[in-house]
Amino acid sequence: MIRNMTCIVCPMGCTLEVTLDENGKFVSVAGNTCKRGEVYANNECTNPVRTLTSSVRCDNGEMLSVKTSEAVPKEKLFECMEEINKIIAKTPVTAGDCILKNICNTNVDVIATRSI
Ligand code: SF4
Repeated sequence: MIRNMTCIVCPMGCTLEVTLDENGKFVSVAGNTCKRGEVYANNECTNPVRTLTSSVRCDNGEMLSVKTSEAVPKEKLFECMEEINKIIAKTPVTAGDCILKNICNTNVDVIATRSI
């Protein structure tokens, strides 16, 4: 089976042609310009993950930009967004502060990306 995708690791955006076996397992990739593209294609076919960026409301009414400390499984993105939407961050906040630990049992934290 062939799966086409765009590598999102860098702005080059190489078009990847991924070959999967009959069980959907990664076999090989073509079209990547560097090794990172191969790693991306393999991960995307086995355990796709994304870093989540969003905003949360603060107790003073301001909006605080946040992101996950690491990428989270793609299938948990909506669940994570529901949790992030419930947050009311307590000010003052410093960029890098942990706003929510272990979101949706992913072992990933939500951290502030600016200070308020
Ligand atoms: S394959 Fe390499 S050069 Fe191409 S988009 Fe991915 S990281 Fe960038």
